[in-house]
Amino acid sequence: MTTTQTASRATVSDPLDAARVRADFPILQQEDGQGRRLAFLDSAASSQKPAVVIDALAAYYRETNANIHRGVYELSEKATARYEEARHLVAHFVNAASARECVFVRNTTEAINLVAHTWGRRNVRPSDLIVSTVMDHHSNLVPWQMLAEETGAELAHVRVTADGRLDLDHLDELLAREPKLVAFPHVSNSLGTINPAAEIVRRAKAVGAVTLIDGAQSVPHLPTDVQALGCDFLAFSGHKMLGPMGSGVLFGRLELLQAMPPFMGGGGMIRKVELGRSTYADVPARFEAGTPAVADAIGLGAAVEYLQGLGMNAVREHEKVATAYALDRLGEVAGLRLFGPADAGSRAGVISFELDGIHPHDVAAILDGEGVAVRAGHHCCQPLMRELGVVATTRASFYVYNTGEDVDRLVDGLAKAQRIFAV
Ligand code: PMP
Repeated sequence: MTTTQTASRATVSDPLDAARVRADFPILQQEDGQGRRLAFLDSAASSQKPAVVIDALAAYYRETNANIHRGVYELSEKATARYEEARHLVAHFVNAASARECVFVRNTTEAINLVAHTWGRRNVRPSDLIVSTVMDHHSNLVPWQMLAEETGAELAHVRVTADGRLDLDHLDELLAREPKLVAFPHVSNSLGTINPAAEIVRRAKAVGAVTLIDGAQSVPHLPTDVQALGCDFLAFSGHKMLGPMGSGVLFGRLELLQAMPPFMGGGGMIRKVELGRSTYADVPARFEAGTPAVADAIGLGAAVEYLQGLGMNAVREHEKVATAYALDRLGEVAGLRLFGPADAGSRAGVISFELDGIHPHDVAAILDGEGVAVRAGHHCCQPLMRELGVVATTRASFYVYNTGEDVDRLVDGLAKAQRIFAV
């Protein structure tokens, strides 16, 4: 099978013209010393940014920069309007009932910590049960450990099946103990598994649990509808969805957010301050103390508009095609052990694997020499790695700009690694 054949096979039924999409990303136009363009396969860590997002940041600083909410002059009013517009764009993107349900934070990690600190400390009592999963990122494990340590609550984790899915029978066993909170990833950043989020929420709610979805790997890649999901909280990062570093969102159902105490205290989150005590602003301002990352929120708004222009159904279909093609091609590599579900339909565009006899960091270093960027390590999922019986994996992840050619270069690079290590 030639590269040309395979590349065209990968794009035949692709609803996105990834080669055209790629042209929107200035960083992907660069060539290395050997005239090769970068095959960027690490979007699960952080995506690249299209020119419209970079331009939105530059335009903000050139034309609109001023602190928000407090100024009575025109520039400040303009900046405030743009910031709040971005909130509306994000709310619409995940189908929140109100923009007030979307709190701007720095990233998924901050969003989850916000919930642990405020909702958690207000609601969790000694011996309450908090459920998360063995496949969670450290961001959705450590904050709950800290909360449990402080409150005396108990932790339990839904097991993962041999083919990398959540064990829903085990979930049911844990739900029978009526947990206070069920937190889980919609998509695993290590295995690529798409978990049945709406079904998990339905089961958790039936026993009265509050639900938090880690959407870091799902919101950038799948159409997301918080009302259809029925979740109480959804955390996601702008930098993984074509937006700026330092932009992130906590969606929370209004009723819950309104009942939560503030996270950080300071300017912007108050109603009235006296020397001894204060009253707090309504949501979402209550959770946005201090000067926010205004330009980054506006940049996230531009990213959301760009993704909507592509269409999230098309984004999902494109990644399905890319993943199916990659699974197919990686299946040809002898000695490659794939982690996670075998079928592309159960996966987002994340593929973790191990190459027999070669350390994942060596694999990544050789691929780097071929102009192919992948990640190697534990992917902030040490408990999952232990479960898989490995210390690290090599991970390739796809997004809107990846083509069949990127996959071919990955497979060629793996063959080179095997030649070098003579395995
Ligand atoms: N959860 C998941 C599933 C992730 O993949 C990541 C990023 N690797 C995070 C949480 C943390 O995201 P951030 O570093 O943007 O807070």
